[in-house]
Amino acid sequence: MPTGKVEERVLQPSNRWLNAELILQRPVEKRAMAPYDVIILGLGAMGSAAAYHLARRGRRVLGLEQFTPAHDRGASHGRSRIIREAYFEDPRYVPLIRRAYELWDTLQQESGARLLLPTGGLMIGPEESELVQGALASARQHDLRHELLSRADLRRRFAQFAAEEATVAVWEPRAGALFPEDCIRAHLAGATRAGAVLQFEEPVRQWHAAGDTVEVTTAGGIYSAGRLIVTAGPWAGQVLPRLGLPLEVERNVMYWFRPRDPALFTPDRCPVYIYEYAPRRLVYGFPALRADGIKVAYHHSGELCTPETIRRDVGEDEIQGMRGLLARYLPEANGELLQTATCMYTNTPDGHFIIDRHPDYASVTIACGFSGHGFKFSPVIGEALAEFCEYGHTRHDIELFRLRRFASPV
Ligand SMILES: Cc1cc2nc3c(=O)[nH]c(=O)nc-3n(C[C@H](O)[C@H](O)[C@H](O)COP(=O)(O)OP(=O)(O)OC[C@H]3O[C@@H](n4cnc5c(N)ncnc54)[C@H](O)[C@@H]3O)c2cc1C
Repeated sequence: MPTGKVEERVLQPSNRWLNAELILQRPVEKRAMAPYDVIILGLGAMGSAAAYHLARRGRRVLGLEQFTPAHDRGASHGRSRIIREAYFEDPRYVPLIRRAYELWDTLQQESGARLLLPTGGLMIGPEESELVQGALASARQHDLRHELLSRADLRRRFAQFAAEEATVAVWEPRAGALFPEDCIRAHLAGATRAGAVLQFEEPVRQWHAAGDTVEVTTAGGIYSAGRLIVTAGPWAGQVLPRLGLPLEVERNVMYWFRPRDPALFTPDRCPVYIYEYAPRRLVYGFPALRADGIKVAYHHSGELCTPETIRRDVGEDEIQGMRGLLARYLPEANGELLQTATCMYTNTPDGHFIIDRHPDYASVTIACGFSGHGFKFSPVIGEALAEFCEYGHTRHDIELFRLRRFASPV
């Protein structure tokens, strides 16, 4: 492990591309000098998946995480995440989600843990709503199994939902719930089995990149590698301060209620769902999973924060607000409040992810800005990161996620 003063050498723009070239054809001897091939900064949803895919390819991986495995202080806790395929946000996500399903399945078999519970999914709203139209567009363009349910169909098949006037729903049978803490643990365990060194409660204080070496400083030491992947979730802006990424961290609350009529909310009767209750205002939820009650949450609260300033308590006004909405669309779920928890979204201006090379350092890859909908993709993002950090390209189409879309107009 190198010690002593670390000097940051900022590459000149003219060197930047030259450097990228050199790295792609990096001679083997140089490579052997670095104790690790890749350091991964942050082992949440995306970092754990990247560690898994890189280690399985035989790369020497060091993962550094400031907290404990599958902790509850970032973006990936709360015991459930929706996975769905008729992607209302953009049809270009569909090939990625298809691959994610395959990879979740493999991970599930390998780990022996139940990671994904299929329940089917409903995208509910007025016919012309962005949610319904977007889900239909993805389903039609990619020929996905789906049904468009009228209000009467919805009421007949899913009596839990008090569908309001002019409401329809897109039903997609492959949607379901992921168990995020178990998913992260499965990726971490798979990475460790494949030889990755994963260190927890070891925050990264500094990193430097120059040429084909990156150096990462923690309280425990200075580590070096040929590549760095930054998967720091809500901390991305702090870890990459000079990039000035257009990220906003948002506090979002999850609520668990004990349903008044539990029989209506078992996973075989109640699907996961998203409901557009007012134009572009979304609430979503799950059936009662494992020992939990039903979980509901708004998709985007609008309350900005930082990982340091996030308000972790949940006010009575917020609880009453959610109860008011439940009374309107899911009345039998509006029982005793069991628990609340807060979690952070890291939003980009257009709601699409950021996956790209650091513009100043060819050896640094960044993946952040998952804007509250990244979890379901984590294995395919891990796979894409493993390829991208090594070769500068990946079999997956990640054009939508490139940084250049934020370049200011000339
Ligand atoms: C309430 C809520 C509901 C959501 N629902 C869904 C859903 O239903 N479906 C879906 O697909 N997505 C959903 N998402 C979004 C999804 O969970 C996130 O997009 C995803 O988990 C982001 O993963 P990440 O790896 O970027 O962040 P994280 O999992 O937070 O990982 C970042 C990690 O980096 C570590 N780190 C940061 N800085 C340092 C440092 N200096 N040194 C060491 N370690 C560091 C952090 O401690 C953390 O562990 C939801 C998110 C929230 C908050």
